[in-house]
Amino acid sequence: MSTRAANLTAAGAPPVLAVVRVGERPDDEAYERGAVKRCESVGIKCARYLFDAGIANDDFLAAFKQINADPSVHGILVMSPLPAGIDREAVQATIDPIKDVDCMSPVNIAKLFAGDLSGHAPCTPSAVMEILRYYEIPLSGSRVTLVGRSLVVGKPLSMLLLAANATVTICHTRTADLTAECRRADVLIAAAGKARMIGAECVKPGAAVIDVGINVSVDGSLCGDVDFDAVKETAGCVTPVPGGVGGVTAAILAANTLSAAERLTGVLA
Ligand code: NDP
Repeated sequence: MSTRAANLTAAGAPPVLAVVRVGERPDDEAYERGAVKRCESVGIKCARYLFDAGIANDDFLAAFKQINADPSVHGILVMSPLPAGIDREAVQATIDPIKDVDCMSPVNIAKLFAGDLSGHAPCTPSAVMEILRYYEIPLSGSRVTLVGRSLVVGKPLSMLLLAANATVTICHTRTADLTAECRRADVLIAAAGKARMIGAECVKPGAAVIDVGINVSVDGSLCGDVDFDAVKETAGCVTPVPGGVGGVTAAILAANTLSAAERLTGVLA
């Protein structure tokens, strides 16, 4: 990735990622810190745009349109969820699909759900797929249970898993028997944002467990949705938090930003 960033810089178009955040949430800030560090380590400049949680919707949209139109910006990451007062649909409709490195534009979402991967797939779901691919965890015909159905993680990830021929179950707060749904999974993916909610009773012996959750304790330390120590003897493998999905997500964000910059500038890798 460093070579690609250097090529762009040498051509007069240093790659730039705009990170847009409204308000302060400790899990967002933890993710943002990791993402910025990773991007800067390969030569991508990160421009941070921080807005007060109480900003008026019109003021935010006006600022966001300017960021989107700025030709020096190649990728845009909008930290999610946005506060209730911000019209998320208007933000999604505004973002240039090429600059949309985390798949929030309706154009890229539609492509993903149609199985067309020519847009950017969202970073965290892509990171989970990359981890499963890297560790050669079989998906075709396997039972995969996902805990979480957000548009940021659960739903898009379910599409990528289906495309890999997994049999996918999506759980949420109204799931009748979460433990039973989790326990039948060959691959269990937790993306609920509830600290250590997945214990050993939820894990089929030998299952692969992927922990997407980022939860911040009162002392500032991070933990996942999976009780790592309780699960590690039962699971075949389990990703840690920190040091698991988050790091791979940041690497994918950097790669998507470089692809966007190459497409926008015509500078080839
Ligand atoms: P959301 O709050 O948008 O969604 C959480 C989902 O989990 C919802 O579908 C919710 O169900 C479900 N859920 C919550 N509690 C339970 C429960 N007790 N039982 C069953 N289902 C439950 O969160 P996100 O999808 O944005 O993020 C999820 C987690 O992933 C967070 O910890 C976040 O910080 C982390 N994250 C990590 C990233 C990384 O790179 N590692 C990147 C992005 C997010 P319902 O729909 O019924 O409300």
